[in-house]
Amino acid sequence: MPALASVPRFFLLPLIAPTRDPKMQHRPRKRFGQNFLHDPGVVQHILAAIAPQPQERIVEIGPGQGAITRELLRLVESLDAVELDRDLVAALPGICADLGRLRLHNADALKFEFCRLTKPGERLRIVGNLPYNVSTPLLFHLLEQSWCIEDMHFMLQREVVDRMVSTPGNKHYGRLSVMLQITCDVQRLFDVGPGAFRPPPKVESSFVRLRPLRQPIFPVGDPVLFGQLVRQAFAQRRKTLRNTLRGLLSAEQMQQLGIDPSLRAESLSVEQFARLANAACKTSDRSRPIAKPDRREMD
Ligand code: SAM
Repeated sequence: MPALASVPRFFLLPLIAPTRDPKMQHRPRKRFGQNFLHDPGVVQHILAAIAPQPQERIVEIGPGQGAITRELLRLVESLDAVELDRDLVAALPGICADLGRLRLHNADALKFEFCRLTKPGERLRIVGNLPYNVSTPLLFHLLEQSWCIEDMHFMLQREVVDRMVSTPGNKHYGRLSVMLQITCDVQRLFDVGPGAFRPPPKVESSFVRLRPLRQPIFPVGDPVLFGQLVRQAFAQRRKTLRNTLRGLLSAEQMQQLGIDPSLRAESLSVEQFARLANAACKTSDRSRPIAKPDRREMD
């Protein structure tokens, strides 16, 4: 191997010149859940599922190095994107140059007020290959703003999607299933293996669609009390409703509703949770403060 000094300069250039591709300079950051999509087939599958129309208000969470962003920009008139990593925010205009109008928000999606992006009468379509480390609190943050959201398409850890779509009696059925299904139509679209990402995550992934319901299938009088009841019921999965819901409803009240108090939360349907919460709402002491759930604990 010749010493570098003896090699003609033009051979050295590709080795020593700084790369112009901003993607090449970015080292994926684990703390931001950065597993970048690099499989064009999966990206096309995602685009086909979203089917964006030119005038729609689309918001991407975590555009990263632009794998989905670039394809969306080719199809829509403008796109909003919320990215936490300021190095990526600096690189994205170059990565997406000439493709369309990209409005970048260097912000934490967990605190971002998505509805502020809408004009009266408009609803957002939200998409993203989400950072898996914050996906559950992010889902709850978005649910709080579902009145301005048309639909959401997300890549998530498969195990989280299992919980989102689970039905009573299934081992994955829990608080996340109930809280999402009372407000949204949830649909798993397809699964994706770790090889589609760089670096590959240690888990399998699934792509999911959520459509906030305009008319609740099971009306709930007090959504905060509903959330509290569901949380309390699942806090100790092995205990019966008689024990977990003590303080909210008596065993007699449950029986009057046709719900066996010796059941566990995992066997109750979303409709039965709504019935319990509405009954608790009628009898609850309105002066008793109801703790707002800590979204980091959601399961
Ligand atoms: N969309 C890109 C792709 O598919 O290749 C990147 C997906 S990567 C799994 C998640 C992205 O979300 C990263 O770009 C990361 O920096 C960003 N991110 C992480 N936490 C975030 C947060 N709290 N708010 C906004 N963006 C976040």
